[in-house]
Amino acid sequence: MTERVQQLISRLTEFHSLSEESYRELIDACSPETAQVLAVEADRIRRGIYGTDIYIRGLIEISNICRNDCRYCGIRRSNTNCSRYHLPPETILRCVALGYTLGFRTFVLQGGEDPYYTDDLLVSLIRSIKSAHPDCAVTLSLGERGSESFRRLYEAGADRYLLRHETADEAHYNLLHPPELSFRHRMDCLTALRETGYQVGCGFMVGSPYQTSAHLAKDLKFIETFRPEMCGIGPFIPHHDTPFAAFPAGTVSMTCYLLSIIRLILPDVLLPATTALGTIHPAGRELGIQSGANVVMPNLSPEDTRGRYELYDNKLCTGVESADHLNELKQRMDAIGYRIVVSRGDVRRTVHA
Ligand code: SAM
Repeated sequence: MTERVQQLISRLTEFHSLSEESYRELIDACSPETAQVLAVEADRIRRGIYGTDIYIRGLIEISNICRNDCRYCGIRRSNTNCSRYHLPPETILRCVALGYTLGFRTFVLQGGEDPYYTDDLLVSLIRSIKSAHPDCAVTLSLGERGSESFRRLYEAGADRYLLRHETADEAHYNLLHPPELSFRHRMDCLTALRETGYQVGCGFMVGSPYQTSAHLAKDLKFIETFRPEMCGIGPFIPHHDTPFAAFPAGTVSMTCYLLSIIRLILPDVLLPATTALGTIHPAGRELGIQSGANVVMPNLSPEDTRGRYELYDNKLCTGVESADHLNELKQRMDAIGYRIVVSRGDVRRTVHA
C-alpha cells in the first residue's frame, strides 16, 4: 500500500470525509491489503458504537408486480416469464406474527411498484401491524410514491423507508432505467422522505452495468452529504430475462471494500450484509459483517412465493437466508464473534451534522 493510500485512509478515519477525487483514488487502490486495513478500521469504529450486536430485519417480499421497467431487474414489467403475485394484508400480518415469535422487531415490507397497494390499504395494514406489535418498527421499501402518500404512511406508523438512489450520476442513472424514470424524481423522493420524518435508506448496486470508479466516488460523496440512517449496497447480479443478462456480476471484494468505506464515512449507519452478497459467495454474509456491516435481513415471505421474487438469477431464499433458519444464522454470527440481538435496532446517532 502506498503512503498516499495510507494517508487517505487516515484522513477518512479521522474526518469521515474525502473529496470526490480522493474517493476515486481510494476505490482504484482496492487490493486485498488495502481492503484488510479498511476492514479493521471499519470494524473498530462499528464496535465502538454497536459493540458486536447484529440487528435482524424480517423481510417480507409483498409483491413482484411492478409498473416499472428497470433494465437490471428481474421483476421489471416487460418480463413476461415472471410468475406474478401480491400478498393480501392477512398474509402479511401472518408473516409478521410468525416473525415476532422468532424474535424479529423490525419488519421490512418490500415490493415492486404495484397499484394494488393503495395508500388506504397500506395505512390500514401499517396500523394493524403497529397495534399488534407496538414495540416493532415498520420499514417500507415500495419504490417511488408522492409526498402525500409518504406522509400518510408515516402518520399511520411507518418508521423507516428504503429507497436506493441506484447511482448518484444522472447519465449513469439513465443507462440503467427507462426514459420515463428520472434521476431527479428519485432524489426528490429521498428528500421528501427525509422531510416527512422517516429514517431513510439509500444505496446502490456494486458493479452495475457501465459503472466506473468515478460513479462510485459520486455515490460515496452523495452518501456523505445526504447522511442516510441506512445504506443498502450489494453486488449487481444479472437476470437472464433482462436487457443486462450478459453483463458480469459485481464482486464480493469491491462490495466489502465499499462497505468498509461507508462505515468510515458514517460510523453509525445501519449497514446490511445483503442477500445479493450472500448469493454470490457462500460466506457473503460473514464477509460483509467483517467488513463493517451490522444488519442482516432474513426472508419471512411465505414459502410458496419466496422463489418468485426473483430480482436476479439464483437469488437465495433458503438456508440461513430464510427466517426459519435463524438459529443457524445465529451460530454463524457467533462463530465470527458477533451476536444477533432481539431489538428494533434503531440508529445510534453519534455524529451530528
Ligand atoms: N421497487 C422498490 C424500489 O425501487 O426501491 C423496491 C424493490 S427493488 C426490486 C429493490 C432493489 O433491488 C433495487 O433498489 C435494486 O438496487 C435491487 N436490484 C434489482 N435488480 C437487481 C439485480 N439484478 N442485482 C442486484 N440488485 C438488484
